[in-house]
Amino acid sequence: MATRLDGRQLASELEERLQAVVSERLERAGRPPGLAVLRVGDDPASGVYVANKEKACSRIGITNLGAHLPAETPADEVLRTIERLNADPAVDGILLQLPLPAGLDERPLLAAIDPEKDADGLHTLNLGRLLKGEPGPRSCTPAGVMALLASAGVELAGKRAVVVGRSILVGQPMALMLQAANATVTIAHSRTTNLAEITRQADVLVVAAGRPLMLGAEHVKPGAVVVDVGIHRLESETGGKARLCGDVRFDEVEPLASAISPVPGGVGPMTVTLLLVNTVASWCQRCGLDQPLADLLP
Ligand code: NDP
Repeated sequence: MATRLDGRQLASELEERLQAVVSERLERAGRPPGLAVLRVGDDPASGVYVANKEKACSRIGITNLGAHLPAETPADEVLRTIERLNADPAVDGILLQLPLPAGLDERPLLAAIDPEKDADGLHTLNLGRLLKGEPGPRSCTPAGVMALLASAGVELAGKRAVVVGRSILVGQPMALMLQAANATVTIAHSRTTNLAEITRQADVLVVAAGRPLMLGAEHVKPGAVVVDVGIHRLESETGGKARLCGDVRFDEVEPLASAISPVPGGVGPMTVTLLLVNTVASWCQRCGLDQPLADLLP
C-alpha cells in the first residue's frame, strides 16, 4: 500500500513551526507579520479560498491587512490600492486573489506588486530568481509539493521526474524546483504525444493538467511517487453531495505507487502554508531578523 503524502498533517506541523518563529521574534520585530489578501469582486470560490487563508494567518499570528473591493472597481483604483500596500510598512506580503472580474487585466496589477512582498512568488522577478537559483519568495503550490516530498524522505537527485502541465502557476516552477533538486525533468503538456509512455518513465510524477481523473494505472510505473495537484468538484450523478477529485484516478493508482497525495488533503493545504512561509520569511527579512525557513523555499 502506498504511503499517503498527507498535506493536512504536514501543514499543521509547519503551522506550529511558523507560529513559534513568529512568537519568538515578535518582540524584536516590534510588530507582527502582515499579509494583505486583495480581493476584487465576489467570485464565490475565491471567497472560500480567501477565508481559508485569513483563518490560517490568524492561527499563526499574521495580521490580516487585506481589502475587498467591489467588482466594478476601475483598474487604476486597484492599482492605487496595490501601491498603498507596497508602501505600507506593516505589510510583508501581498496577494491578489485570482480570477479578477471580467474586464480587469491581471498582468499589470500582478506586475505592480513589490517583488519583496510577493507572497505568491509569481512576480516575474521572483520567477527569474527561481530560474537562477537565487533566494526569494517561491511559487506556493510547487514549493508545497517540494515540502511534501521532502517530508516523506523522497530522494530526488538522479531520479526521473515528469511534470504534466506547463502553466506559470504550477507546471513551470515545479519543473525548475525538481531540476534544482537534481532530478532529470520532463515536462508534458496538451500537445505531448504518447503521454502514458512518458509518464511511465517517471520515478516522481507530478500531475497539474487541470483535467479531472485524467491519469490512471496505465500512466504510472510501479513504485513511482505520484503527486496530484489537480482539484475539481465532481457533481454527483445521483443527485447526492458533490465530491472533490484530482487529475489522477486515485483508487487505480494507489496500489501501484510507492507514495501518493490524496485530493483533498494533499497539495491544497500545502499551498496555503507556503503563502504563510513566504509572508513570515519576508517579515524576518524586512525586520532585520534571522530567517529560519530556508529549507522550505526550494
Ligand atoms: P492550467 O489550465 O493553467 O494548465 C494546465 C496545464 O496542463 C497546461 O500546461 C496544459 O497544456 C496541460 N494539459 C492540459 N490538458 C492536458 C492533457 N490532456 N495532457 C497533457 N497536458 C495537458 O492549470 P493550472 O496549472 O493553473 O492548474 C492545474 C490544476 O491544478 C488545476 O486542476 C487547478 O485547479 C489545480 N491547482 C491546485 C492548486 C492547489 O493548491 N491544490 C493550486 C493551483 C492549481 P498546454 O500548456 O499545452 O495548454
